[in-house]
Amino acid sequence: LYQDMQVLAQIGVALTEHLKPTVLNNKIYKQLSKLFKMDLFSILILDQEVPRYTLFDYKGDIVKERKELIRNTEYLAEYCTKERIDISVSNGDFEAYHIKEIGEAEELQLQSVLFTPLIINDKAIGAVGIGSYKVNIFNSNDLNSLRVIASYLAITIQNTTLYHQAEYLGMHDSLTGLLNRGALLMQGEILFKKNHKQHKSTVVMMLDTDYFKQVNDRYGHQLGDEVLKKIGEILKKVVRKQDYVGRYGGEEFLVILDDLSEKEVVKVCQRIKKALSESCFETKKDTKIKVTVSGGFYICNEYTLNFSDAIQFADHALYRAKLLGRNRMISYCLGENES
Ligand code: GH3
Ligand code: MG
Ligand code: MG
Repeated sequence: LYQDMQVLAQIGVALTEHLKPTVLNNKIYKQLSKLFKMDLFSILILDQEVPRYTLFDYKGDIVKERKELIRNTEYLAEYCTKERIDISVSNGDFEAYHIKEIGEAEELQLQSVLFTPLIINDKAIGAVGIGSYKVNIFNSNDLNSLRVIASYLAITIQNTTLYHQAEYLGMHDSLTGLLNRGALLMQGEILFKKNHKQHKSTVVMMLDTDYFKQVNDRYGHQLGDEVLKKIGEILKKVVRKQDYVGRYGGEEFLVILDDLSEKEVVKVCQRIKKALSESCFETKKDTKIKVTVSGGFYICNEYTLNFSDAIQFADHALYRAKLLGRNRMISYCLGENES
């Protein structure tokens, strides 16, 4: 019993040490096989974006994975979660649970199986199970230990989910789903410093929607929101994976491009302009409206001291684009500050 307690304590520590999406790792399975005379271990997690079922062998290697729920057949993990009951089978007889189709347990010809639901906040978010090819392997102590592990797991899964949700909300803008100002400044700073060291350029492009107040005033805030979302989508589409796009403020967007020449930046500007001119927004009165943006960009060089200077320069060029009549992108020129 003392050894069991020690193993359980170690599992608890290992689970709560890291808040990673992959909650479980080989270390934990090695511990589990000390605790149970099992051949297989499985876990079903429903309370995440995609339901995830994973079956491991006693060494902790993945035997099978599925990322959808089996609804019509009664797979044990799903059954245990749905009914919120412990399942204990010792001689391959699953009939007692009135389970018509018992999925993997039957396919694998398991004889002894224990399953217990993962419950948090009175909600079943999945199940954990252990299995053996031999009869009469598990006893009531094993079920109690599995319940303890299930409670550790449930807490860890919930903490991990909440942590990642909070991290996402802290970094993204809720309307457009783009990076928010804080995240943009953080990522931009990191990229700027990295590129500066490697003598590469970082491009800062500030964009502002033209006459956006009029869009709101004429067609309502709701359509205005749709326009902002669409601009965000367009910007995401025209840049590469390593670039950043975010909402800097109300109807202003910031694009950070990784190591592009002026020629290439001009191409990005043209792509933005083209994509925007090809999309139009339908209003309730069936009128189609077009929106344009103005932009200013600055390409950092070895003399650029810091990222916030670069933002200021891009902003300054944007101001010039507005003065010059809007619907255009302007590159920041040295000495412009004084003009
Ligand atoms: P300019 O061409 O000079 O940029 O003119 P503008 O009308 O776009 O600029 P102004 O700064 O006068 O107006 C910006 C407007 O953007 C005012 C504000 O109500 C609107 N806005 C800011 N955030 C949001 C939002 O989240 N949704 C909607 N619908 N409108 C927003
Ligand atoms: Mg503005
Ligand atoms: Mg504007």
